[in-house]
Amino acid sequence: AHLARISTVEPQVNAFLHVDAETTLAQARAVDARIAAGERLGPLAGVPIAHKDVFTTTDMPTTAGSKILEDYRPPYDATVTRRLREAGLVILGKTNLDEFAMGSSTENSAYGPTRNPWDLSRIPGGSSGGSSAAVAAYEAPLSTGTDTGGSIRQPAAVTGIVGMKPTYGGSSRYGLIAFASSLDTPGPFARNVLDAALLHEAFSGHDPLDSTSIDAPVPSVVEAARNGDVAGLRIGVVKEFGGDGYQAGVLARFHESVELLESLGAKVVEVSCPSFTTALPAYYLIAPSEASSNLARFDAMRYGLRVGDDGTRSAEEVMALTRAAGFGPEVKRRIILGTYALSSGYYDAYYGQAQKVRTLIARDFEAAFNQVDVLVSPTTPTTAFPIGERADDPMAMYLADLCTIPTNLAGNAAISVPCGLADEDGLPVGLQIMAPVLGDDRCYRVGAAVER
Ligand code: GLN
Repeated sequence: AHLARISTVEPQVNAFLHVDAETTLAQARAVDARIAAGERLGPLAGVPIAHKDVFTTTDMPTTAGSKILEDYRPPYDATVTRRLREAGLVILGKTNLDEFAMGSSTENSAYGPTRNPWDLSRIPGGSSGGSSAAVAAYEAPLSTGTDTGGSIRQPAAVTGIVGMKPTYGGSSRYGLIAFASSLDTPGPFARNVLDAALLHEAFSGHDPLDSTSIDAPVPSVVEAARNGDVAGLRIGVVKEFGGDGYQAGVLARFHESVELLESLGAKVVEVSCPSFTTALPAYYLIAPSEASSNLARFDAMRYGLRVGDDGTRSAEEVMALTRAAGFGPEVKRRIILGTYALSSGYYDAYYGQAQKVRTLIARDFEAAFNQVDVLVSPTTPTTAFPIGERADDPMAMYLADLCTIPTNLAGNAAISVPCGLADEDGLPVGLQIMAPVLGDDRCYRVGAAVER
């Protein structure tokens, strides 16, 4: 049924970069055989899933939305992919994204933009926009994404679904094509909080193959999603997120959610996190710096594309020609920015300074979580914007992640749950719920109470 739905809506939505019915059906038959043989699989056995095309898959290509990895076939599965296969989930295909996960609209994909199923003239968010659109358009019941600065929560918000950024280190980066390694966090998309929790639990947990993986028990997110009791919980409204630059309909739905939580017995207080206003500039030094280093591996020798190798050119020339042809403009912008910020003489002024700001943000979270159990804010300042509106204005594009980036810099957990439609355009609004490191269960508990 999902494959049929994909054939029907893909010409309009373009959520997928790769769909392979034969491989999918073979996987489904293999799951049937495991069940018939008496194997005890988890609660998601047989459920189809779409993977963001940054998770390596041995039986499907993995492109990261880039020409430089066109037709690349990885020799191994990412831990997220492998664990979900073992749990019996069936892969429908690989979803579209901003090239190397750099963007907030999926317009930076080398393979054309994905469209928002609510309004095909609008963006589905990004960078995991293929994964959000696939779930919102009923092409897949579940999907995976990655969140480096908001790339799960922002697309979830603007397509009216649930998207969760787990605690950094709570989900494995092994086999994830790296963007900014100290920030990248795999997480789930689903149409409700409980489904997201089931998926979260199915791929989480310590992974010795990822050196930053946390060796601690996974918080019981499924139990929390089933519970949804917020009576007595202390909820902090982040003072810095709201006001100028926020769409009226977004703020209206946000305030209603806060009132709903209060009516369910939560205690709501305003909390100030002054450093959050400096998160965006700090992120745009740290993320490009790490990207410039991570993307050095695309050198025309080891993976994918090779341009100009006709026997007359040096290796260095072939590398330069390949990278010039293989990377899109936003990726090049980040590589140049990051290389500059890390260069000798500038390192302390830019990267070093940004790391200090990062510490201040983590301290703001720490102080806030001494007063409250969770923090809440709108997930995004506006609803889905029209395709093309911000494509030539990187600064306007970067603002889409204003409310989500502090969480990535501090490494804690946050979820976006749908909280209604904005009056002015009828488009979905997301409520962001932020919890301390390893407090992922609190996101699901509060999310279950307010999701609509
Ligand atoms: N939009 C942000 C960026 O372009 C975040 C992307 C992400 O989370 N992968 O860097």
